[in-house]
Amino acid sequence: MTTPNIKISKKFENGIYFSCKMCGACCRGFDEGEVYVYETDIIRLVKFLNLNNSSLKKFVRKYIKLVDTSFFWKEQGENRGKRYKFKTLGFKFTGDDEHCEFLDEENKCTVHEARPFQCIAFPVGWNMLINSISNFKDYSKKCPALRNSLENEGDFYSRDEIIKLATQEYEMEKEFFLKMKKNNFNIFKVYKFLPKDITC
Ligand code: SF4
Ligand code: SF4
Repeated sequence: MTTPNIKISKKFENGIYFSCKMCGACCRGFDEGEVYVYETDIIRLVKFLNLNNSSLKKFVRKYIKLVDTSFFWKEQGENRGKRYKFKTLGFKFTGDDEHCEFLDEENKCTVHEARPFQCIAFPVGWNMLINSISNFKDYSKKCPALRNSLENEGDFYSRDEIIKLATQEYEMEKEFFLKMKKNNFNIFKVYKFLPKDITC
């Protein structure tokens, strides 16, 4: 245990070893997952690609879809919290192998400097991985770098780095959840730039 909302499993309490092997599996959503994207990620990408704000809707139509997510929340004063399910944004995938549109043929990210927070933070700041060794082991079946992490191989990330990224992830998710809750989980009220015909 570290900060109120960030838990680190015993295995990683002193830090974590991780070096990406560039296999591109995470950029294919590990076959069944999503690459989540927040408004700040989209704005950064639009700027990086030299598109202006009027191109925002075009960018969203081309690269973004609605995806399912959930967030556990306990109201102040309540004994119990609950898991809320709602929509958020994710990258569309393309091709037979369903890859992120920004992945090139050599498994390199073409928007590396502006990639979404989810891509930056994997796996050091992913709460669902650093707080659960069983989730980590599950993902290690799909990611060779995580298999090495379990053997303490790779670059070292300190406990402070884990907490910093994991806190950032939690706060981003919480901020979006609270906005969604305030707007009756209507994503079009939260993200006013979304075209109404955005697909799932
Ligand atoms: S799945 Fe793991 S090794 Fe492969 S690109 Fe992603 S982080 Fe790197
Ligand atoms: S933005 Fe880059 S790192 Fe993120 S999923 Fe796409 S190709 Fe991979």
